[in-house]
Amino acid sequence: MKKTFKCASCEEPIKNQDSLFFGDVNTYYEGKPLCEVCYHEDEPVATIYYRGEEEPYHISLTRNETEGDFKAKWRSTDAWRGRYELESEKYQRIFSDAILSYHESEAMLKELNDKMMEAFSTNGIDFCRAFLRTSNVFCTDYDIWVRKEPDQILRAYLTLERIKQEVDYANPIYSTGILFDRETLGKLQNILGNKYQIKTDSDVMKLVEQKGEDLLEEIRDYYKSNPGEDNE
Ligand SMILES: [Zn+2]
Repeated sequence: MKKTFKCASCEEPIKNQDSLFFGDVNTYYEGKPLCEVCYHEDEPVATIYYRGEEEPYHISLTRNETEGDFKAKWRSTDAWRGRYELESEKYQRIFSDAILSYHESEAMLKELNDKMMEAFSTNGIDFCRAFLRTSNVFCTDYDIWVRKEPDQILRAYLTLERIKQEVDYANPIYSTGILFDRETLGKLQNILGNKYQIKTDSDVMKLVEQKGEDLLEEIRDYYKSNPGEDNE
């Protein structure tokens, strides 16, 4: 008697042997039976571009087109949020940042990307770019990976440091307007700026972590002694 497989994803029985697939090595469904649709149409969690090539290589929960160069793992930051992260034995990650749709940093990162591609290609650096899905539809993680060889990594790193300066990567403006809109950040700077150094959203988050309820108390005190200001 022939064994009938059940798709590990949609759980439908797979009657036709021609439409029986197994999850690729280094995927969530590795070695598990899958129907044709689930195998092929599973949405990619990572898209990888080798060097200056235009053809993308995808990693989904069922397929891994990088032939083991990379594998993707889900990292949850809490019950609701998380992101996919890549691992590789062949390449070393030298850069990682989030591309935020409609944020100023998007154009800066595009410029960094273009300059990096040009410089790395001219200098014979074997690199990959990876775009990874996160739980936030407006946020895509962007990585640069370089062949794991000391000479390659060092040259790539130094080149990238120069490009970061050129595109003003460290400017705090690119770290604001993410958690709070600028108006809210400005208000918080007014209230807390005499006591604490607040340049970016994450400065505020660090303060909240350190001070907790005490920080809210300080904000309330500020509004008590400055009753004219609107507190919305
Ligand atoms: Zn299926």
